[in-house]
Amino acid sequence: MRLYLQGQCGHKIYLTSPAQTRAELPGWFQLQCPHDQQAGYYANQNVFAEPESGQTAGGAILGGLVGLLAGPIGLILGGAAGASFGAATEKTELARANRFNES
Ligand SMILES: [Zn+2]
Repeated sequence: MRLYLQGQCGHKIYLTSPAQTRAELPGWFQLQCPHDQQAGYYANQNVFAEPESGQTAGGAILGGLVGLLAGPIGLILGGAAGASFGAATEKTELARANRFNES
């Protein structure tokens, strides 16, 4: 999942954080918008989670890259492994995002 908040400047700002619930984020924090460098103060209640879209594609690319290093046969196997890994994680993505949003 990806964490984001609506910036005071109006931009949607994605956060890089391993937090699984709002309690794992600081209560208040300063954040600089990567789009226009505007700094603002935000509360963890301003943060929302969304399931990471394109998990299947991400898994496939990852598998493909791994396969690329191993040669042509690895590429085919890697692609298949990546696709099934992506499908499996996609289900849990939504559950994780919902859990965060309800925290
Ligand atoms: Zn902005």
